[in-house]
Amino acid sequence: MDRKIYNVFKSMPKPSNLHTHFSAIVSYRKILNLVIENDDVRVNLYYDPKNFNLEYSRNPKPSFKLINEICIENIKSLINDSNIDDPDIFSKISSIFFGIIRYKDFFQKYYLPAIISHMKMHNIKYMEVRSKLGSVYDLGPDKKIPVSILEELELLYQYKDYFKIIVQTSKYITSDAVVKYFDEIHNLIRKTKYTELVIGYDIVGDEINSNSIEYFFNGLNNLKNKYPNEINYYLHAGEILYSNKSLDNIKYAVRLDSKRIGHGINLIYNNHNVNKSLLNEAFNKKILFEICPLSNLYLFHYYPAINNIVKYIDHIVIGSDDNNKQRTNLSLDFMFLYMSGISLLQIKQLLINSISHNYDFESFVKDFDVWYSDNSDFLGNTNKNVFIIDGTKK
Ligand SMILES: [Zn+2]
Repeated sequence: MDRKIYNVFKSMPKPSNLHTHFSAIVSYRKILNLVIENDDVRVNLYYDPKNFNLEYSRNPKPSFKLINEICIENIKSLINDSNIDDPDIFSKISSIFFGIIRYKDFFQKYYLPAIISHMKMHNIKYMEVRSKLGSVYDLGPDKKIPVSILEELELLYQYKDYFKIIVQTSKYITSDAVVKYFDEIHNLIRKTKYTELVIGYDIVGDEINSNSIEYFFNGLNNLKNKYPNEINYYLHAGEILYSNKSLDNIKYAVRLDSKRIGHGINLIYNNHNVNKSLLNEAFNKKILFEICPLSNLYLFHYYPAINNIVKYIDHIVIGSDDNNKQRTNLSLDFMFLYMSGISLLQIKQLLINSISHNYDFESFVKDFDVWYSDNSDFLGNTNKNVFIIDGTKK
């Protein structure tokens, strides 16, 4: 990789990253360094050699090993393993730090500040982050104690000027369970300050093997009707090429008036010629497609249709998806697009799209004008209000 070009893309001002997942933002190397550098992080921290997890516990299983240099070397070689395409390696890497990230003390003292450092390092002003609320825990004398969602929200609320939360749950559970979870959270936050933080809802999971959006349609639609003008969806759909189920997911997400489609490459890259009506319906509803180039590349091992990013550029924002699992970041996504033939002017437009098309962006992002003028060397030639979906100026 050309470091000089990478550094240019790293410092390139990025108004936002609108598709990323909470536990996947900070690189695993950075998390491991936090473990190595901070004595307090290692108190009650164990390595579970059977499941390749790091676990906090006051009552460890006999097989757990107190974290030591050998464990750290094992983890280091795992996260640097070049065989990341091996599903076995990938699943080990995916779960190794989960118990750390969701431990209340680490979450509060190290993980949240590390997210802000990551944003500063990549010159990202603002993010919308998918996260499963309700999985933070504390340690009791002999077992883990769940931290309440309100307490978790309060920890996150301090960073509301940096990022907002899109509540995510799994497509593998029943429609009733999804609706119940969203309804409970919405009941907690409505008419409170947390509506400044939680902006919508999403369901995620392997698109081929999990339930379809059609399966969830009635439940999600009823929830919208129960709280008129309060529920916004930002649904993952259409991530898999050459799959009718994946295309149908886009269809039902559009019917649910999803504010954006997470991925949608099935339509943008694959079925755009044969499904013009669906494409136009999405465009007419001003639904943005969150394209995550390196995440797509990781899944397909080739890049399907770079030209279609240019063709539909007005309707696209670029997101990074699972940074740490795929050892990528938003800077690399833009660098990859540039290396694939997307011009700098087109990259600017993609950056600007993430401001001008975003739901209530200006009121969300504190001191945005100051940041914008600080970065006007790069963004200055581009009027931030120029690119809106119908092609006319604001
Ligand atoms: Zn995603």
